[in-house]
Amino acid sequence: MQAGTPTTYDVCIVGSGAGGGMAAYALTRAGARVVVLEAGPEWWATKDSTMLVPTYASPRRGGATKTRPFGEFDACDGGWEIEGEPYTRAPGTRFDWWRARMLGGRTNHWGRISLRFGPNDFKGKTQDGLGDDWPISYDDVAPYYDRVDDLVGIFGSVERLPNHPDGRFLPAPRPRCYELLVQQASRKLGVTCIPARLSIITRPHNGRAGCHYCGQCNRGCAVNANFSSPEVLLRPALATKRMTLVTNAMAREVTVGKDGLATGVSYVDTRTGEDRHVRARVVVLAASACESARLLLNSRSTLFPQGLANASGTVGKYLTDTTGTDVAGFIPKLADHVPHNEEGVGGGHVYMPWWLDNRKLDFPRGYHIEVWGGLGTPSYGFMGGIHRYPGAGGYGRKLKEDYRRYYGSTIGFSGRGEMIPNEKSYCELDPDVVDRWGIPVLRFHWEWSDHEYNQVKHMQQTFRALVAEMGGEVFSPMPTKEEGYGIAPGGRIIHELGCTRMGSDARSSVVNANCQAHDCRNLFIADGGPFVSQADKNPTWTILALAWRTADYITAQRKLGAI
Ligand SMILES: Cc1cc2nc3c(=O)[nH]c(=O)nc-3n(C[C@H](O)[C@H](O)[C@H](O)COP(=O)(O)OP(=O)(O)OC[C@H]3O[C@@H](n4cnc5c(N)ncnc54)[C@H](O)[C@@H]3O)c2cc1C
Ligand code: SF4
Repeated sequence: MQAGTPTTYDVCIVGSGAGGGMAAYALTRAGARVVVLEAGPEWWATKDSTMLVPTYASPRRGGATKTRPFGEFDACDGGWEIEGEPYTRAPGTRFDWWRARMLGGRTNHWGRISLRFGPNDFKGKTQDGLGDDWPISYDDVAPYYDRVDDLVGIFGSVERLPNHPDGRFLPAPRPRCYELLVQQASRKLGVTCIPARLSIITRPHNGRAGCHYCGQCNRGCAVNANFSSPEVLLRPALATKRMTLVTNAMAREVTVGKDGLATGVSYVDTRTGEDRHVRARVVVLAASACESARLLLNSRSTLFPQGLANASGTVGKYLTDTTGTDVAGFIPKLADHVPHNEEGVGGGHVYMPWWLDNRKLDFPRGYHIEVWGGLGTPSYGFMGGIHRYPGAGGYGRKLKEDYRRYYGSTIGFSGRGEMIPNEKSYCELDPDVVDRWGIPVLRFHWEWSDHEYNQVKHMQQTFRALVAEMGGEVFSPMPTKEEGYGIAPGGRIIHELGCTRMGSDARSSVVNANCQAHDCRNLFIADGGPFVSQADKNPTWTILALAWRTADYITAQRKLGAI
């Protein structure tokens, strides 16, 4: 903790990921004295990244570890299971919860796919009668998307497509060899395929260096050319000298006074196990959608017996995740390639935004397609087993030749679609289980509906048609209905949203259109919790835009003396 800071802060922010980082950035710039409580330790990409460390430098060759399930060089500390911090699932259901435990949260290794929601995404119910509309529209968020584009930096191309708003883009990198093949096949099948939109700066931007195309974004960028909350948001917030950062601080509950207003946050110092408390005039929860719900449910008092901001009983409800399924195939045209460097940025250079009309389909809403393949640095488990390629395998020289021959001849597609919120998918406190700090944990309930199954079936069929169009062979048979058409379990796409949704009716929502709790006017949510619907778009650009909008509202309300 920095010296000389006030004992009652203007704002306490819980969590330092996308939402918390943006709230800290905007509030400190507006003059507020802010304390950020972060459960994990410090981590700064420009200091701690393993960018450019060769995989052969480690005996694991980049294999997974307990705290780095995506590989030992991956930037994010966390995982599906964290020792001493369990969660439970209702019998017969499955939801997997990814949690980061470090400064910047998941923004250290996220895919940087940075998509705006479109006008229809805020008004889903008006379109097809399902779910609910947001109490705000695209026009309310658009100015904040613009600001996020300008501050963080994003590449892309102006396309003027319906419901896929363009941004203020830096130039997009050109497609790689395999992506050109995908574009050709897409064109033949009538699938829209355009340059990707990623928060990676392709030329110097706001004092940061441009990308040098090493393809290792998930390790964190040592030259700060991609977005992470610590480097792009928290560093400038700290530079204002108005931000106090408390790491290894696991928030336990929001405390309230006799007047029902939040007074601060109690937390556990995870290095000593001691209980501590910070006082603040305003509390902003940005611990990630489900964790913020958990904090509210654990903030029980005589005034709020069913948890803070939960008079409606909807905290934990309307939990969604992106639908997802993958198909990969061997593309003979890409075998025996001329060796060349095509690493590019750490992500696809092209993607397919939703292109069809639902009136002609048996599912609502849409999905987009992410494409993978190419000649990136190989690491442990690369190519998924050489025996899958024609005539390949064995020992010695032949095995090495097969690897050289087939390396880079795989193309994969991942579908990312919109789930409709349903009553059977939610989280609540488990009455019997606590974590290592004695804090009650979440119990998840989960169910997909036919909307999602039919959508994923369509993804599978489309991906198989694309592989066939390229003259390739898929590695796996079409999953059956009994196999859910290959739908990834809930939570596995790591886009969990909802649980503290926004609405104009305090009886059916947790926060209002400014992400302010209906029941507690100095309490705000700045993560994916307030989302009313999922959209097929990856959520983080919208989390950033909404967090900035919420911070501006807090600033205005403070000026008025209303909070
Ligand atoms: C591998 C991967 C790839 C992804 N790719 C994309 C992508 O391409 N595009 C996209 O839009 N999204 C992507 N996402 C999702 C994206 O990372 C999240 O949407 C985003 O980070 C959510 O921001 P957040 O602030 O809500 O949570 P987080 O970024 O998870 O931050 C939450 C922070 O709160 C801290 N915290 C939690 N509980 C407490 C507590 N009790 N007390 C104190 N601190 C606490 C955590 O340690 C963490 O630092 C990806 C995620 C993963 C894991
Ligand atoms: S690809 Fe570019 S942005 Fe990503 S880690 Fe390498 S230099 Fe940084």
